[in-house]
Amino acid sequence: MTEPAIRRRGLMLVLSSPSGAGKTTISRMLLARDTGITMSVSVTTRPPRPGEVDGRDYQFISVEQFHGLAAGDELLEHARVFDNYYGTPRRPVEEVLAQGRDVLFDIDWQGTQQLAQNARADLVSVFILPPSVEELERRLRARNQDSEEVVRKRMDKAADEMSHWREYDYIVVNRDVEESVASVLAILAAERLRRDRQAGLPELVQRLRGD
Ligand code: 5GP
Repeated sequence: MTEPAIRRRGLMLVLSSPSGAGKTTISRMLLARDTGITMSVSVTTRPPRPGEVDGRDYQFISVEQFHGLAAGDELLEHARVFDNYYGTPRRPVEEVLAQGRDVLFDIDWQGTQQLAQNARADLVSVFILPPSVEELERRLRARNQDSEEVVRKRMDKAADEMSHWREYDYIVVNRDVEESVASVLAILAAERLRRDRQAGLPELVQRLRGD
């Protein structure tokens, strides 16, 4: 008889990048290809962009609501990015991890640092870099949703964000989106196999040894 799947501890997979590096596309493809991952839906005080859906892309909330959540310790991490606040609701993440499933986070370096301080053992962090400055700018402009001033501000912010690349476990240079998704899936596959994440191993080995 084949042994049942080994019980394991869920992990927290963080993807960070400057905006325009292709992170959103990579996240969507990961979620479509791996049913073991659940996306963490952040709260934000920024207004929705065209096409964004409340509860799917973000929970769009007021500044007062945000401060209430932060004060009540209901956020796993939170940060101010550009002129808005962002945060990760704690409870949904804890519920998914408890089921032995993985959670995908699209958060910035500040949030990643907080997770590294509070939950290092569960964290796997990946930084996505654009292949060149020209490509980064092209992708930021192709969005065509933000004003020229916002694009320039984001180019500056991208430089800031990228200065934190050394704080991440893995770096993926997004030359080709299919290749990048394959890289992140490989990271995920290896990290799931880490001995300390396979919580059911001691029992399996005990049975294998006939004890
Ligand atoms: P955007 O407004 O373009 O959706 O996101 C701007 C930045 O905020 C991105 O770098 C994104 O990763 C980051 N971000 C989104 N949600 C969160 C969050 O819950 N926490 C933190 N720390 N950063 C977030």
